[in-house]
Amino acid sequence: MTEPIKTDVLIIGAGPIGLFAVFELGLLDIKAQLIDILDKPGGQCAELYPEKPIYDIPGVPHITGQGLVAALMTQIKPFKPVFHLKEMVETIERIGDPLFRVKTDAGKIFECKAVVIAAGGGSFQPKRPPIPGIEAYEDKSVFYAVRQMEKFRGKKILIVGGGDSALDWTLNLVPVAAHVTLLHRRDAFRAAPDSVNKMRVLVADKKMDFVLGQVSALEGAGGQVRAAKVKREDGQTVLLACDTVLPFFGLTMKLGPVANWGIALNEDELIPVDTEKFETNVPGVFAIGDINTYPGKLKLILCGFHEAALMAQKAHRYVHPDKKLTFQYTTSSTSLQKKLGVT
Ligand SMILES: Cc1cc2nc3c(=O)[nH]c(=O)nc-3n(C[C@H](O)[C@H](O)[C@H](O)COP(=O)(O)OP(=O)(O)OC[C@H]3O[C@@H](n4cnc5c(N)ncnc54)[C@H](O)[C@@H]3O)c2cc1C
Repeated sequence: MTEPIKTDVLIIGAGPIGLFAVFELGLLDIKAQLIDILDKPGGQCAELYPEKPIYDIPGVPHITGQGLVAALMTQIKPFKPVFHLKEMVETIERIGDPLFRVKTDAGKIFECKAVVIAAGGGSFQPKRPPIPGIEAYEDKSVFYAVRQMEKFRGKKILIVGGGDSALDWTLNLVPVAAHVTLLHRRDAFRAAPDSVNKMRVLVADKKMDFVLGQVSALEGAGGQVRAAKVKREDGQTVLLACDTVLPFFGLTMKLGPVANWGIALNEDELIPVDTEKFETNVPGVFAIGDINTYPGKLKLILCGFHEAALMAQKAHRYVHPDKKLTFQYTTSSTSLQKKLGVT
């Protein structure tokens, strides 16, 4: 069996609330590691509205989604949090009192005294393009994410989409693949202009192809795609030979495996918690941020921050049962300031 990674608290979800939980736990000498499906911290702020200003963070008149994530990352730096990105938590098992074993889809196993579910609206999952029968090819020759570039060495790849993922992977895979074709329905992109310019240079240098159109069907057998039927912008239908298709149609939020963790959910698939400790029906498992519910709940970042502070007080009792917890201010406590590295 893989050697378990041991930590005091495991935080599932590195959105703004999971990040701030590191801070509140850290002040109480509780070490935390975070797991997130995404390839970067920040949850909705980083994924859905990185450049939009937020106006209701207390004391901060305005800050962009990405700006808030960057500020939180700076704030938690003294506590040296360990991130496990591009991994989805699949199971949580209670193996002691209190001790939990948590497993991810990458095969990692964690052991911790408390679990904090900060999974927001659930897991971001790739949107499936409307191509009939695409399911038969998924994870065999159609992939919605690139986990290891090496897997695509020597492949004849069709990348579909016009956002940052489509363009970034086009640029990254051209040197690795036998051939790359980028397919997009129009000659305008949501991706960064610099990536689009680089793609156009590669096309001009005949290092890849760019086709305007949409996939209407896939041809192949046994899960192995051989060609994509493409309806071009000029109305003609052509067959594009390929052995790998990478559609990047954005992300949608689904509850995902949270539903199978043995934790009570309400009819809206939210986790009911008490407002004293933000603990779930399983002692030692907490839920904070958008994923939880209680009377009067507001899905606001500032509310999640408050929940993280109260959760940490109770988590302390599981992690350090023999230590007395004294309430302290960061302004006046030299011990807290030492932890923050400011004295
Ligand atoms: C367009 C938009 C504008 C908004 N504007 C504001 C605003 O102005 N002010 C405000 O206060 N709020 C705003 N919000 C709401 C705010 O973004 C959310 O309240 C906040 O992001 C919740 O944070 P969270 O950490 O609970 O969850 P999220 O930000 O959703 O993060 C949860 C993280 O958990 C990860 N995750 C889920 N399941 C798993 C799993 N099984 N394994 C591993 N990782 C998992 C996800 O990948 C995600 O990164 C806005 C939201 C949107 C969409």
